[in-house]
Amino acid sequence: MKIKLTAKPGTTSEIKTGNWREQHYPEIDHEKCIGCGMCDTVCPEGICFNTGEKNKAGKFFYEKDLDYCKGCGLCAEACPVKAITMREEKK
Ligand code: SF4
Ligand code: SF4
Repeated sequence: MKIKLTAKPGTTSEIKTGNWREQHYPEIDHEKCIGCGMCDTVCPEGICFNTGEKNKAGKFFYEKDLDYCKGCGLCAEACPVKAITMREEKK
């Protein structure tokens, strides 16, 4: 009997791992964000991205794709200006 335990290669973007998130999601304060990219560096899902837009201070700010966010909170811990708050999930 053959048991398939892994997904096919190249299907990562098709599997919306955000469904695994249960308790908290990250919210970025765009006005505080200095565009350092640290959240992108530490995110295990690689789903923090530069929006290409600037805030009032003239800094590019970041967002994340919640469809793939597992709510681990690493981005909030790593943010040097505390621009990320983990909010309670309401499903
Ligand atoms: S909470 Fe975790 S998975 Fe979600 S954006 Fe932050 S580092 Fe990535
Ligand atoms: S770590 Fe914080 S300041 Fe740096 S890009 Fe991410 S949200 Fe912005």
